[in-house]
Amino acid sequence: AYQPVEMETVLEKRRVHFGGNLKLSYENPVMFLRGWRHNLFDEMGRPYLDAYNNVPHVGHAHPRIQAVAADQLKRMNSNTRYLHPAQTEFADKVLSKMPDHLSICFFVNSGSEANELALRLARAHSGGKDMITPDHGYHGNTTGAIDLSAYKFNKPGGVGQQDWVHLVEVADDYRGRFRRDDPDRAGKYAALVDDALDEIAARGGKLAGFIAETFPSVGGQIIPPKGYLAKVYSKIRAAGGVCIADEVQTGLGRLGDYYYAIEQQCAKPDIIVLGKPIGNGHPIGVVVTTAEIARSFSNGIEYFSTFGGSTLSCRTGKEVLDIVDDEGLQENARLMGGRLLDGLRSLQKKHNLIGDVRGFGLFVGVELVQDRESLAPATDAADYVLNRMREHRVLIGTEGPHDNILKIRPPLTIEEGDVDMILEKLSGCLSELECFSPC
Ligand code: PMP
Repeated sequence: AYQPVEMETVLEKRRVHFGGNLKLSYENPVMFLRGWRHNLFDEMGRPYLDAYNNVPHVGHAHPRIQAVAADQLKRMNSNTRYLHPAQTEFADKVLSKMPDHLSICFFVNSGSEANELALRLARAHSGGKDMITPDHGYHGNTTGAIDLSAYKFNKPGGVGQQDWVHLVEVADDYRGRFRRDDPDRAGKYAALVDDALDEIAARGGKLAGFIAETFPSVGGQIIPPKGYLAKVYSKIRAAGGVCIADEVQTGLGRLGDYYYAIEQQCAKPDIIVLGKPIGNGHPIGVVVTTAEIARSFSNGIEYFSTFGGSTLSCRTGKEVLDIVDDEGLQENARLMGGRLLDGLRSLQKKHNLIGDVRGFGLFVGVELVQDRESLAPATDAADYVLNRMREHRVLIGTEGPHDNILKIRPPLTIEEGDVDMILEKLSGCLSELECFSPC
């Protein structure tokens, strides 16, 4: 157990020993020493409602995860060069939730590593190098994944855009070029891919593929118009490219109505990337692809990851997926997400700051605007709400190019009383802002 530690001591040691770009959440940072389901407890034992963290998918400190990890660590833990049923059992479980055409699993240690491998697979299969990706996406912190993450490389101090990376506008039908009053918006956003394909041809490049978060998260909890991705994928395939769906944030039942966001988009990717929640805190990434793509990659050079697919990881990952099923967590995400979205839409009628409420299940965005006509982003208001919610001991996030979208993305265990608390506290914070500003 931890001895009582002053938060100031930990803060000071971080300042001395860690890089300056390691960010802390909140103006007044918080230190957590315990977790249970969708709650975290600080060094004083005070509970916080965790409405932000998607990694503890089945809840913090789940007893079944504790038990399976302890059991495996007592037995042995090794890599994929030795046979073990845990690896094939995990693959069977992952594939049982996948479209039939995806039949091969690669196990890695993080979402970044999974996207990096997906990029290699796309290049090996297509023989191309160029990639098309929506603006303001995020796919991870490795060299290749950063190059595919406009959210990072386009920031001041970022590495900038590589010549093999081609950006298309995010299919944001609230703020973007084509909006919800346009019935053709999915097709129009998809058509922007044609420009990127022309650009590649003009440069004499060759397409490797397209990568996107199925619902862009750091881009602002965007729900692209239905069918957008299916249309993009058919253009990419016609041009010889491989379609990669990053389902790190959206997969495993979080959306309630769908196990994966690609189902809502009627899209059939060639590669699906999974990460964060699949280990519930244990580092796991998974790349799932077709037999044809796996064959193109199997070129005689061994593929190996020391920890990817370890016995411990496979047993943990399978347990997480089993818990989602056994505890009906996808259905809970649907019910609690519905309650949350209904409640937020009621708040929208009361608070002019709320420009848009969007999401599925427990993947939710609340876009704050200064004015519903101009859609001027209410960035300061979002920052105020974030920090004020923390004072009410409710954890949420902010996202989007203007950081004006409140991100609500709790573990799937959340209950009615918790949803009502989020709504009540959020309404209070927005009322405070409305009192302060003479509008
Ligand atoms: N893809 C998406 C959509 C993500 O949100 C993240 C992490 N936020 C990653 C990839 C990278 O995952 P990791 O940090 O586990 O490497």
